[in-house]
Amino acid sequence: MSWRPTSSRRRSRVGNDVIQLARIAITSRPNAPRVDQLTCTASHGIASRNWTTPRREVAPVLSIDALHVTYGGAVQALRGVSLEVPDGAVVAVLGSNGAGKSTLLRAISGTLRLHRGRVDSGTIRYGDTQLGNRDPAQTVRLGLVQVPEGRHIFGRLTVEENLRAGGMGSRDKAAKATARDRVYELFPVLRERSSQRGALLSGGEQQMLAIGRALMASPKLLLLDEPSLGLAPRIIGQIGEVIAEINRQGTSVLLVEQNATMALGVADLACVLDVGEVSLSGSAAELARTDEVQRLYLGHDSDEPEVQVTGPATHRALSRWTP
Ligand code: ATP
Repeated sequence: MSWRPTSSRRRSRVGNDVIQLARIAITSRPNAPRVDQLTCTASHGIASRNWTTPRREVAPVLSIDALHVTYGGAVQALRGVSLEVPDGAVVAVLGSNGAGKSTLLRAISGTLRLHRGRVDSGTIRYGDTQLGNRDPAQTVRLGLVQVPEGRHIFGRLTVEENLRAGGMGSRDKAAKATARDRVYELFPVLRERSSQRGALLSGGEQQMLAIGRALMASPKLLLLDEPSLGLAPRIIGQIGEVIAEINRQGTSVLLVEQNATMALGVADLACVLDVGEVSLSGSAAELARTDEVQRLYLGHDSDEPEVQVTGPATHRALSRWTP
């Protein structure tokens, strides 16, 4: 699937201007320094690094700079990862097993410590807030909510109780009722099963419940860790559509995936993590056309020439950015 700048594809709030601006910046500064730090950014990171062509500044909802993470003081899981999520965008992070995708989300959501991991250096900014050592509950209250890999729904609780658990951090009853209506509109099957135990749902329904539970906290930024894991292709397609709809309703999304077809179909921007480092980044459509992504993540043997890239060999930023 590709980026189509017409009404046939949803337009996230990030909109034409931002993508256009990114294109201007990239093409007008092909040999710009520190291309390796632009990673998943669109216009925002570029503007904040004093690019000369900003038409409109939109602050990123999430900004990560030179993040280094280790587990048990020994395993280096992330090595200098930088990326930004423009407000209103879907950003996909691709990578194979052990690339560091979950680690990235754990660092953002404040759950790293639960896994004996720690941020050694680098910064994570959420709007104007430095996330640093905030605990996970504080992070949720800020509007940043993670759906963990493997769903982790409460199997003994009913669907309704699972959703209530997702809204426990808020005392705003009206907001919670609105959030619950939104979840049931997005996932009618959850309304039908509202009094059924979570454990009795299918894998796809459990994933929907996990996403629904996260939405109960009315997130501004949703972190999704491999929502397609273990699901049938048809269900994966539905999950992709729901992610697009959630984004259309105003929630930014950072989507970690091994299923590149779904992720690149739904994302505006994307990057590839390779053994803890960003190896490739750009618009989702451009990434989908690269030989590397075609071969490693889309399972194609592409005859097309690889998209020409610039920047240091360690992180190839796409030179073309054509919506
Ligand atoms: P997957 O798709 O298999 O979940 P991933 O891209 O999410 O992979 P991570 O789970 O973030 O990768 O792991 C990155 C690296 O950190 C790997 O080398 C992994 O073995 C290591 N790692 C992850 N969690 C821990 C932990 N709790 N303790 C020690 N090492 C860990």
